Parts: sequence; structure tokens; C-alpha cells
Amino acid sequence: MRFCSVQIPAVPRPFPARLKTRIAPTPSGYLHLGNVFSFALTAFLAENCGARILLRIDDLDRERVRPEYIQDIFDTLHFLELPWHEGPKDAMMFANEYAQEHRMPLYRQALEQLKEDERIFACNCSRKRILTQNEQGIYTGSCIHKHLDPNTTDVSWRLYTPPGAVLQYHGPDGPAAAVLPATQQYFIVRKKDTFPAYQLASVVDDIFFGVDLTVRGQDLYDSTLAQLYLAQALSKPSFGNTVFYHHDLLLALSGDKLSKSAGDTSVRYLRKEGWKPADIYILIGKALGIPEPLNDWRTLADRYWRLMAGH
Ligand SMILES: [Zn+2]
Repeated sequence: MRFCSVQIPAVPRPFPARLKTRIAPTPSGYLHLGNVFSFALTAFLAENCGARILLRIDDLDRERVRPEYIQDIFDTLHFLELPWHEGPKDAMMFANEYAQEHRMPLYRQALEQLKEDERIFACNCSRKRILTQNEQGIYTGSCIHKHLDPNTTDVSWRLYTPPGAVLQYHGPDGPAAAVLPATQQYFIVRKKDTFPAYQLASVVDDIFFGVDLTVRGQDLYDSTLAQLYLAQALSKPSFGNTVFYHHDLLLALSGDKLSKSAGDTSVRYLRKEGWKPADIYILIGKALGIPEPLNDWRTLADRYWRLMAGH
């Protein structure tokens, strides 16, 4: 077996070779410095693990997606020379071939399977009602015993999740296990508008494209656990072979230093203000406490992990 050379702090062993990773921005705003940091780490790991990078744009959330945000993804990746090998090359190709609506039959099929296997129940709770039942907005399963018809309108579909479900997964330092957190109990797989929820579309897409390395922010850790559970419910064991790496969040590391020094932290804004790619990488580096000048994503990721490892 081939092993890649990158060593992540607190990881005793190198990452195993991987086939494919993805960068998966949601076009509900202009890409910001936090996205760039995440993409830089993804590109670096991909390069060192021999993985190809898929550009997967999650555009199902129609109320928030705007064409200019989709265009911005391509503009920003090109501007910062962030690489990808698969997926759409431009906004036109995205619309024609890669928008999530093209995979709607796959999402519908997965939802039907969950329904037939009695893995879901219908819920007609409003956000307000959920908050009156639990101050933190944790859904307590109040519709389970109502046996609402899932085929009626204005119900969401929630997955049955047994309390304390233990999920096995592959982290950067090998096999790991965690309990599905309360925030993900009975998570939604189909929204009230009958569209697939984010978790469902994300799992179906990653399986469809053959992604086996997922790099994402620590804020999505709970989401990863929900997705692992969902893949089990869909009888897709291949998803369990994915290696997940959850990185620190740029803003959590840098406090509000970034917005003070950069004003608006969207790359588009900085580009229009005349910033060059190296200026942007240097700014991210400064926020992370990296003293050296940085020219590109590769040196940013490399210096960041060296710093974290203490050398
Ligand atoms: Zn309910």
C-alpha cells in the first residue's frame, strides 16, 4: 500500500493513499478567507495522498443560492490558483451537467428506500413548536407516535435514530468511534418543500462521485456523524471507508483579527481592492500566527501544520 508523506500534528501515522476528495462550497455568499483556508488544506492533503479533487457545488438551497455566488466560486478558485480535477470547469458547465437538480432521481430513490424500509417518520412541527419543547431547539421526537402520512404536504421526513447510536469512522489517526450527538437526533432527510435535506444530498453525492477523503471544518463534525448514520441506514458501507479530517476554523483561531485587518473578508472584495493572491495568503497566515511570507496555498498549508506540530 502506498502512503503519503504528510504528517498532521497529533497524528502518529501518515494519511493512507486516497482516491478522491472534494471541495464543496455552498453558493449562498461570496467565498471568504475561511473557505480559502479550508480549500488550501484540502488541496495539500489531496496532493500528498494522491487524491483527485472534485469541485462539488451544493446548490439545492434555492432560496439562498444566487448566480453571482456560483460565478464567484470559479473566479476565486482561479484567482488563488486553487486546483480541482473533476467537476464543472465553469458556471455554464455547472448548470448543464453538475447542478444538484441533475441528481434529483438519486436523492428521490434514496428517500423512497428510507421510507420503504421504515427508517423515517413524518413531522409537521414548526421551528417555534420545537423551541417550546426544547430551549436549545433539539428535536425530542414528538411526532413519532402521531404516525402522520409521509405523503401529505407540509411534513418533513425525519430519520429514526436510536439514542446513543455509536458510529465508527476513520479519522486522520485511524479508526475512531463517537455517539450521535443530541443535536442530530431524528435529523431531517426531506424538507417540508419535498426537497432532499443537505445531509441526504451530501451523502448521496459523495457516494455517487466516489469520494473517500473528506476535509471540512470542525463545525461540521456533528454533521459527519449524522451522515455516517444515514449511510448505514441506506446500506452504503463504502461511505464508512471515507477518511474524515476536521480542521480548526480560521475565525476561531484568529478571533476578529481578520475582519479588522481586511474589512470585508470575502475574496471578491479584496480582489476588487487590488489585493494579489500572495497578499491574501499572507493575511491568512498572519491570522494563524505564521510569520514567513506565503505565496500560495501549498506553503500556507505546509507552514500551518508545521506550526501546529511545533516546528
Ligand atoms: Zn414533529
